[in-house]
Amino acid sequence: MRTVAGFDRIGEENAFAVLARAAALAAQGMDVINLGIGQPDFPTPPNIVEAAVKALRDGQHGYTPATGILPLREAVSADLNRRFAVEVNPDNVLIVPGGKVTMFAAILMFGEPGVDILYPDPGFPIYRSMIEFTGARPVPIPIREENGFAFSADEALSLVSPQTRLMILNSPANPCGGVTPRAEVEKLVAGLAAHPEVAVLSDEIYDQMVYDGEEHVSLLTFPEIRDRLILLNGWSKTYAMTGWRIGYSVWPDRLYDKARKLAVNCWSCVNAPTQFAALEALTGPQDAVRKMVAEFDARRKLVVKLLNELPGVTCITPKGAFYAFPNITGTGWKAKPLASALLEKAGVATIGGPDFGVLGEGYIRISYANSRENIARALERMGDFLATGT
Ligand code: PLP
Repeated sequence: MRTVAGFDRIGEENAFAVLARAAALAAQGMDVINLGIGQPDFPTPPNIVEAAVKALRDGQHGYTPATGILPLREAVSADLNRRFAVEVNPDNVLIVPGGKVTMFAAILMFGEPGVDILYPDPGFPIYRSMIEFTGARPVPIPIREENGFAFSADEALSLVSPQTRLMILNSPANPCGGVTPRAEVEKLVAGLAAHPEVAVLSDEIYDQMVYDGEEHVSLLTFPEIRDRLILLNGWSKTYAMTGWRIGYSVWPDRLYDKARKLAVNCWSCVNAPTQFAALEALTGPQDAVRKMVAEFDARRKLVVKLLNELPGVTCITPKGAFYAFPNITGTGWKAKPLASALLEKAGVATIGGPDFGVLGEGYIRISYANSRENIARALERMGDFLATGT
């Protein structure tokens, strides 16, 4: 049987393989501390869970419109308006089964052989995987430690070619925790004026996780690119809802109907009770979000301090998301063998930097979505392992 070439090129997300391996080791009796997977360790707030249960009890068992229920699309618009003072028509909002689906839809819409798609490296691995799936050429935008792991507008713009159709941006970022400052975003938007044919996918799924008084600058706030901007966002990280599978995107008029048709062809709609849960998430009390972000902040400070005490490790302070990206070149280890040895020998799951791109060599990703106690235990084990090799 011969499948299409894209399936020979499609990649995956190693975090899921590490999660499975960590679970297998735990099943064998190992005490594994998971700093690998990127998901909040908190339960979904109870008011959100109750809204889903109520929706099920109220008989919300059928298809909804493919674009999502109108009250939810209206709530997304209101939330974006409240947080960024922007006007978003609910008819430009698409409710999707997770942030990844927006990525899939946008990359599928622009990618084909002969086309360049720019994406961050190190970056979320699915960008590159999907670009390769379509046959487009993946062009990495380097994300550098010396730049605080923020995007460099000059570097990103210098990579635009006549073949470029889509530029993928992500701030706050996975895996490095970088937050791109306003001046850099403004410079990028100004530079894009010279490339009106380039669409932009802005992945803002960590937008509420910024620290040290840092500002999240949404690309939505730049009217000059709104007609070619696809915004990716959702509930997975902010409301601890990774397993519910729901997200949203904002599409410009000229692309919305294509995305809607993809929804009709592919997933029909997000399951109805989850949409009601997401509605409660946006319209109910927000104190659970504030509490989670404050706890992430405390863990961030702890993990950075402890990482910098490890022999051969240095770690800049990440400004956003819930990841630290320590430089491990001073340990003498390569990143992937180190991540693997830490899991197999020390019972600490992390992800090797190369799983996020070629510029990830020399780094490992630490997700600090775990308790302070577990972070301290994990870092102690890492210190022992680096000192003794066992
Ligand atoms: N974008 C980034 C940068 C992510 O890190 C993730 C998840 O790890 C996603 C998108 C996907 O989110 P979802 O679970 O809603 O598909």
